[in-house]
Amino acid sequence: MAAYAAAALSVALLAACSGSSEVAAPATLTTATAAQPDSPAGAATPTLSAGSSATPSTPLTSTPLTATAPLQPGGRTVTVALTGDVLLHSGVTDQARKDAAANPAQASNGLDYRQILAGAKPVVEAADVAICNLETPVAPPGGPYTSYPVFSVPQEILPALVDTGFDACTTASNHTVDKGFDGLKRTLDAMDAAGLKHDGSSRSQAEAQTPTILDAKGVKVALLAYAYGLNGFSLPAGKPWAVDMIDVARILAEAKAARQAGAQIVLVALHSGAEYRVLPTDEQRKVATSLAASPDIDLVYGHHAHVVQPVDKIGDTWVIYGLGNMIANQHRLPELAKAQHQATAVVSFGAGTDGRFTVTGVEMRPTAMSNLNEARRYVDLATLLADPAVSDTRKAAYRALYNAAAKSLTALGAQGKGMVVAAP
Ligand SMILES: [Zn+2]
Repeated sequence: MAAYAAAALSVALLAACSGSSEVAAPATLTTATAAQPDSPAGAATPTLSAGSSATPSTPLTSTPLTATAPLQPGGRTVTVALTGDVLLHSGVTDQARKDAAANPAQASNGLDYRQILAGAKPVVEAADVAICNLETPVAPPGGPYTSYPVFSVPQEILPALVDTGFDACTTASNHTVDKGFDGLKRTLDAMDAAGLKHDGSSRSQAEAQTPTILDAKGVKVALLAYAYGLNGFSLPAGKPWAVDMIDVARILAEAKAARQAGAQIVLVALHSGAEYRVLPTDEQRKVATSLAASPDIDLVYGHHAHVVQPVDKIGDTWVIYGLGNMIANQHRLPELAKAQHQATAVVSFGAGTDGRFTVTGVEMRPTAMSNLNEARRYVDLATLLADPAVSDTRKAAYRALYNAAAKSLTALGAQGKGMVVAAP
């Protein structure tokens, strides 16, 4: 493995985001998990069949969603797929190296991340727009690479994300300036070269002030992404616009500006929450409630906590508090059981008679990073559990992850408001 860069600041000051299986982070993890309840104390959690069946015993589908204005008969629909952190611990890159050795034709610099991501491809490709969260900066071509706590990861991840079907990634995270402004700029330049759009960090003030608009079958979808902090680093000197930080007044203004720039759907991504804590923090709830009240914002979603957080509907606005990781290698952490399962959201929008697009469906797909005795892979759990070729033993292990993800997703009662958890 390439040498790890010496961290310029104390690891103890860093929010984890996160320890890999190779690098323990006991101080941070202890802090992050101490006295944090990870499941609701009340009765809001639906009863799920505990490991005995892939299908929860309480139906996770119920009332159909109702748009604020009637849907246009035969009107346009758009689907958006959203995933959590692309967090390239060295264990993930070790797998990409093995996959490249097995199939050199697809490799670049001896790396191929496509097989790791392949399980996401059917859902990601089927969506009209797909957005991931690129948690960390990329290194110069060929390295050197670093993993936790100060990341600099292979650029080979970018064409693999494009080949998987992603159109864009959010880039506002607590790791955005791990390698300073140079790393930030290098990352956005490499994303542009790969054909991945981005929002959340900027190379210039002009870029920061320009809304990121994605094209979904001709419908304009604005992506606005923000982070809670920078792991103890500061914004680059003289460049306060380099990373978009969470600030409700600012987000409301930028959503309005995106709408004025022609966006027909406005998505707000928040990189926030307490790591390894399932229930949203008071701060997450406060921010989400303020944003949900805006007529300019159609969906609020998030990542960063490394665990699946609940979905809720606040007023007419859906809030997906946290998708967890998308690809990572946190298996040997004490939080194994919580960090291994994750979620992908597929949100549908329909055009109303007033011309506005509104959310018409929220499907949450429990996913996981594969178990330790298998190659590192993104696993769509409903697909695996429905596969007759998968052994009962293997299914049982993954069914537990499915049930855990479903429990987190429904912890605030979203299934009663129309959210669907994809069934095997
Ligand atoms: Zn993070």
